[in-house]
Amino acid sequence: MLPPVLIVEDDTKLARIVKAYLEGADFRTVHAATVREALQKADAEIPLAVILDLGLPDGSGEELCQSLKERGDFPVIMLTAKSSEEERIAGFALGADDYMVKPASPRELVCRLKAVLKRYERGTSSAESTASYNGGALILNTLRHGITKDGLPVSVTPTEFKLLLTLAATPGRTFTRDELVSRALGYHFEGYDRSIDAHIKNLRQKIEKDPRTPEFLKTVYGVGYLFAGERDEP
Ligand code: CA
Repeated sequence: MLPPVLIVEDDTKLARIVKAYLEGADFRTVHAATVREALQKADAEIPLAVILDLGLPDGSGEELCQSLKERGDFPVIMLTAKSSEEERIAGFALGADDYMVKPASPRELVCRLKAVLKRYERGTSSAESTASYNGGALILNTLRHGITKDGLPVSVTPTEFKLLLTLAATPGRTFTRDELVSRALGYHFEGYDRSIDAHIKNLRQKIEKDPRTPEFLKTVYGVGYLFAGERDEP
C-alpha cells in the first residue's frame, strides 16, 4: 500500500475537493481537520507528502509543520490565506517545500505536488541516505523514513520504520525484545517487550513475500529477532 498524502484542512468542503483531485491523480489520501488529528495520522502512517493549511482551529500550522518534519523528511506544501511576502518567507524557513495562496486551483496543487515529489526523489537517492538489501528488493530511506519494496513505496508507521532500521543496521545480529524496545522505541517499560511482536507481525505483512516464511525478519526462538537480508554494495 502506498503511503498517503496527508491533507490538513479544517474547511471540510475544500478538503473534499483537494482529496478528489489527488485521488483522481492516483494518490492515496488521509484527512485531518486539526493539529491534534494531523499528528495522530502522521504517527499512524508516515505520509508521502503533506498539504497543510496554516489556519487551524487548535494551533498554528507553522508549529505543526515543524512537528511533522520531526517525523520524517517528506515534502510539505503550505496552503494559506496569508499572502504577504514576509509570511511566505517565514513558511519556507519552517521547512515548507512550496506555498500556495488560497483560493488555490486544485489542478495546480496536484502539479506542484508531483513537482516537489520529483525533487525529493532526486534529492534523497544519494548513497548515504539509503540502504539497499537483496539486490534492491528492499530499500530503507533513512532521511525520508520511507521503505521501498520491489520498487514501490510501502506505508509504515514511525515505530515500524525505527524497528526495521535498528534490525537492518546489523544484518545477522540477534536482538532481544528488550533491546529492540529500548533501541527502536527509545523507552523502556516493564511488559512492553511483547509489543515488539505486534510491530514485527505488521512489518512482515508489508515487506515479506510470504509473512509465514519471512526472508528478512526472522524469529530467533526463545531470544528475539534478526534481520536476514544482505546489504547491497553502495
Ligand atoms: Ca483553515
